[in-house]
Amino acid sequence: MPPSSPRRVLVSGAGIAGSALAYWLGRHGFDVTVVEKTASAPAHGRGHVVTLGEAGREVAERMGLLPALRAAHVGQRLTTRLDATGEVRETVRPVGGELRVRRGDLLAALRAALEGSAEILAGDSVATLDDDGEAVHVAFDSGDFRTYDLVIGAEGPHSNTRRLVFGPERPFHHYSGQVFAGFSLPNDFGLAHETVEWEAPGRRARLTAYGPGEPAHACLTLTREDPPYTVFGDPWAQRELVRGYFPEQVWHLPRLMRAMWRADDLHVDVVGEIRIRAWSHERFALVGDAAWGGSLLAGEGAGKALAGAYVLAEELGPGGAHEGAFARYEERLRAGAEKLPPPRG
Ligand SMILES: Cc1cc2nc3c(=O)[nH]c(=O)nc-3n(C[C@H](O)[C@H](O)[C@H](O)COP(=O)(O)OP(=O)(O)OC[C@H]3O[C@@H](n4cnc5c(N)ncnc54)[C@H](O)[C@@H]3O)c2cc1C
Repeated sequence: MPPSSPRRVLVSGAGIAGSALAYWLGRHGFDVTVVEKTASAPAHGRGHVVTLGEAGREVAERMGLLPALRAAHVGQRLTTRLDATGEVRETVRPVGGELRVRRGDLLAALRAALEGSAEILAGDSVATLDDDGEAVHVAFDSGDFRTYDLVIGAEGPHSNTRRLVFGPERPFHHYSGQVFAGFSLPNDFGLAHETVEWEAPGRRARLTAYGPGEPAHACLTLTREDPPYTVFGDPWAQRELVRGYFPEQVWHLPRLMRAMWRADDLHVDVVGEIRIRAWSHERFALVGDAAWGGSLLAGEGAGKALAGAYVLAEELGPGGAHEGAFARYEERLRAGAEKLPPPRG
């Protein structure tokens, strides 16, 4: 790498894209810091299940993660669909062959791969960014202050560094007309490697469980004309909103509502897409859901996050001007993030 090339990189967000990017930048010889607002380490066996897709699997293989991910694979034997009265409408047996892992297991594997090749600032967040043309001066919420050559925003759809550089989220977020609520609950339902899905017009409740003794995961979706932005700062208002859409005393809905009330990992969000004209500005770039976050219902965000991180690191890797690397990264990704080219060199 030429001596004038950027060397010190701050990655904001140690999720799927941020962890993979930090790994690959470390491999390319960069001095990498990752700042992650969550203080605790990723928890095995927690979170929604993601399918990696072809590109994600390829990146995972190049990182040597496949053995750990295969061990964490969660098989799905059956999906049972219920109508609004709770009667069985159909049962579906999936074809199989996909690599499906819980987000917590994927993050734990990525974090283990990253060990020793990046500094992780857990429980902190970027407060301000000041690009003086030569470097980016970063102030953290903790009061720490550091200087980097490049900063990459990888904090998911509600990226705070994107807000600092490009402005508020609203113009970039395209609401799809749905809200979702996800949370874990004890598997008292006798479910094993299966999903039960209750559906009524404009509303759906999915309950999924895998091994015995592991928590079940609920995902509720509801259709709503206006995005309920006002409830997002208030976890109790979120619960009230969701509960109002599922008043029926059928199937396990009353139990799901009680469990949602008590859940310590409830995640309520709008479903939508991030559309932004450029993914970089001067010494700053975006990767993962922060750049192209799509509807979670499309089910391919994890693979795209891994592929995007890989391509960005590969373009920055040889050194040279970061502007050209950012432009080539964006061009390649916009042309089809799901097709991962063979490694360079
Ligand atoms: C319910 C649900 C189901 C899904 N199902 C699937 C599926 O089946 N298949 C699939 O491929 N994808 C699925 N996805 C999408 C997938 O999880 C995302 O596309 C993927 O996680 C995007 O990776 P990312 O690294 O961009 O963001 P994330 O993985 O969300 O990581 C962002 C990281 O940034 C951190 N962060 C946030 N704010 C800050 C801050 N201010 N400072 C520092 N750190 C911060 C977060 O704590 C997190 O660690 C699903 C998503 C949801 C919500």
